[in-house]
Amino acid sequence: MSYVDEVIEQVVKQNPAEPEFHQAVKEVLESLRVVVDANEEKFRKDALLERLVNPERQFKFRVPWVDDKGQVQVNTGYRVQFNSAIGPYKGGLRLHPSVNLGIIKFLGFEQIFKNSLTGLPIGGGKGGSDFDPKGKSDREVMAFCQSFITELYRYIGADTDVPAGDIGTGAREIGYMYGQYKRIKGVYEGVLTGKGLSYGGSLARKEATGFGLLYITAEMLKSNGQDIAGKTVAVSGSGNVAIYATQKAQELGAKVVTVSDSTGWVYDPDGIDLEALKEIKEVKRARLTEYKNYRPNSEYHDGKGVWTVKVDIALPCATQNELDLEDAKALVANGVMAVCEGANMPTTLEATEYLQKSGVYFLPGKAANAGGVATSALEMSQNSERLSWSFEEVDSKLQGIMVNIFHNLDAAAKKYGFDGNYVVGANIAGFEKVVDAMTAQGIV
Ligand code: NDP
Repeated sequence: MSYVDEVIEQVVKQNPAEPEFHQAVKEVLESLRVVVDANEEKFRKDALLERLVNPERQFKFRVPWVDDKGQVQVNTGYRVQFNSAIGPYKGGLRLHPSVNLGIIKFLGFEQIFKNSLTGLPIGGGKGGSDFDPKGKSDREVMAFCQSFITELYRYIGADTDVPAGDIGTGAREIGYMYGQYKRIKGVYEGVLTGKGLSYGGSLARKEATGFGLLYITAEMLKSNGQDIAGKTVAVSGSGNVAIYATQKAQELGAKVVTVSDSTGWVYDPDGIDLEALKEIKEVKRARLTEYKNYRPNSEYHDGKGVWTVKVDIALPCATQNELDLEDAKALVANGVMAVCEGANMPTTLEATEYLQKSGVYFLPGKAANAGGVATSALEMSQNSERLSWSFEEVDSKLQGIMVNIFHNLDAAAKKYGFDGNYVVGANIAGFEKVVDAMTAQGIV
């Protein structure tokens, strides 16, 4: 049996009931086969893949808090510190009822390669809780965040592990967590990113993931002789990534015709009204059913469906496995040209293969959504030098990073004979730097 197959089998056996983690490991290791095969003897001797798929450490802890009725609630918190070969652990905190250890591990594993791809000195980590901020009062969210950090503070720090936002963790949650960390440690340091502008946050961090997604999408199209201007785009989700992806797509001259949330989706043939979307989601924290009040010409549909609309480009920006084989078939039948992942692993393995076989340009999340963590690393730099850069300065660095990521993964794909396979290219480009650092640092 090949080394890759052996390690995949071990991961499945040693981590039962963690299907998302198995999926992420399979996707990465399968595409690294060509590099691993070429170095099999050395990698085997160093147990390199075994070390790569086993987190350096992981924490699971109780998070008790009191709700508005005086009832004590108990959630579970997680932090997985996956790999620190190239820098302090870096990765978001997901607050969603679906969170479990397997999901955090899949996200942490992906984060290693994503962070490496940015070219910045950040290792891979991820955390979160099964707490659902939806429907909770501000006081309840604060009570949860304070309790969460009261346990987590001992494992994180500006030079060890720097968490950030993710699904369910926005500016409000980061603020409460930062306040509690500072209170306990008595240190004003850049321990979290995604902070508010008044206390060490970076301009353009909020926009970074969505903007970065469009920068790299535009670069990929350009290098394939296409222009993003004039293209029709389907976006899923209506959270942080989706909103700023929509904004940048519009600024680049494309027309976004869909957005969605966990209950339904909107089709607006005239193009999504960005101001209405921001008001509904960022100000009112309401459901997309409200969108029709702003745009009577639009349609609201319950359930899934964004991928049935005829578009040139699909940008899944909601959650994992939201675009399956049936969706991929519908997109291809409608002539889609590119699928670029704003979310983490939104496309199933079967759907990815189908899209690639059908000649669709496919950019994986670890490259396409790396703008968020890249800008988080820029926030860390600003905190370290106690300075704040202008929006334009951060945005232009972000643009440069995304363009670089595309050319690095494109070159890696070509070098190993997988021209145009950006999944293979991203995994190899991310992997090489981490392996180099792990090898140089010995058996740790
Ligand atoms: P948000 O919480 O701001 O938004 C998430 C969006 O996805 C919401 O519209 C939400 O709908 C929808 N959604 C969540 N879960 C589901 C589900 N199970 N089914 C259907 N829709 C769902 O999160 P972000 O925009 O920050 O993150 C979106 C994705 O991007 C995630 O995969 C995240 O890991 C990834 N990402 C985020 C980065 C960032 O900087 N924020 C950086 C890199 C990746 P509803 O409101 O109804 O729940």
